[in-house]
Amino acid sequence: MIFDEMEKGEFDQIVFCNDKASGLRAIIAIHDTTLGPALGGCRIWNYDSEEEALIDAMRLAKGMTYKNAAAGLNIGGGKSVIIADPKKDKSELLLRAFGRYVESLNGRYITAADVGSNPKDLDFIYQETDYVVGISESYGSSGDPSPVTAFGVYRAMMRTAKETFGEDSLEGKTISVQGCGNVAYNLCKYLHEAGANLIVTDINEEAVERVVKDFGVKRIGVDEIFDVEADIFSPCALGAILNDETIPKLKVKAICGSANNQLDNIERHSQMLKDRGIIYAPDFIANAGGVINVADELNGYNRERALANASKIYDQIGLVFDIAKKENITTEKAADRMAEDRINTMKEMRSNFIRTEHNILTRK
Ligand code: NAD
Repeated sequence: MIFDEMEKGEFDQIVFCNDKASGLRAIIAIHDTTLGPALGGCRIWNYDSEEEALIDAMRLAKGMTYKNAAAGLNIGGGKSVIIADPKKDKSELLLRAFGRYVESLNGRYITAADVGSNPKDLDFIYQETDYVVGISESYGSSGDPSPVTAFGVYRAMMRTAKETFGEDSLEGKTISVQGCGNVAYNLCKYLHEAGANLIVTDINEEAVERVVKDFGVKRIGVDEIFDVEADIFSPCALGAILNDETIPKLKVKAICGSANNQLDNIERHSQMLKDRGIIYAPDFIANAGGVINVADELNGYNRERALANASKIYDQIGLVFDIAKKENITTEKAADRMAEDRINTMKEMRSNFIRTEHNILTRK
């Protein structure tokens, strides 16, 4: 059954890790390494079943292949899950045991933070392997990715504005923002400086107050965000917020935000947006600044370079819009196609034999 699923989803390798001493049970899913080592975070979650953990690891790993490829990174897709309660079960032993499994893959998989894990956890993993990014800044790591993610979303939004209104200036545009957390705060700063009119909401009073105070923006109630009239809606809080209930209410011309998995049902809801004539910037392209930032550590981290690469999200989103128009498909489908094209072209380019130390016959 597992091999059938791997075949269907075109998975390269799945590693099951079972360490008696630490109690570690983890799954590392490597989806595709055509473009480079598989990079994706380590989720620590109290899954109800092993099956649920495996499905999640595979789904997330495949998502990373598309995200990394579409971002123009020379990085493949992978993800790992540790079956444990992140509030109770995390320990140095558990995390180091996991690090040893990552090390055993010899660089085929590079881990990072995800739901349930943070830079301090990664520091333990780092005791056992170099194949980890996003550890504590004191080790020379890239630190909080949110500002770079926000910059990438800002660039994506400029290109979305160009597609929707004919020019990429956000001056005078009204932008509604759901969530005022780490990414949204930095995004609002860029938008405020660009002269946009902002309407924001958050369930966290402190978070929303900070944005209101620092940028003098208008705030509305949490439930009002889907009804408010605006040029662009920017979801920066939760996933699955574009659904049967919310899409018919929207009074916006375009959507571009940082939240992961904004579409409740990818096919159905991307089509609903297309049918309503709302331009949608696929979330996994708009929010790629985070992975662009940590991936830069593989070259010895440089903030200027990370920002310069995040800036290219403008062009990537542009390509997506071009494919969508040319083929008359949703932007979500166009984004997938762009990622697949890049991987397939690279496969072809690498089809010729070159001599490396691994393939020289060394019979003596
Ligand atoms: P965060 O936790 O700092 O901010 C999220 C904010 O959303 C919080 O202030 C929270 O109170 C608010 N919120 C939750 N439910 C809400 C609701 N129903 N209505 C309004 N506000 C609500 O997280 P973040 O790092 O800013 O990330 C925001 C989104 O972007 C997440 O979906 C995350 O997965 C995604 N993302 C983040 C990064 C990154 O670099 N941080 C990278 C890629 C994607």
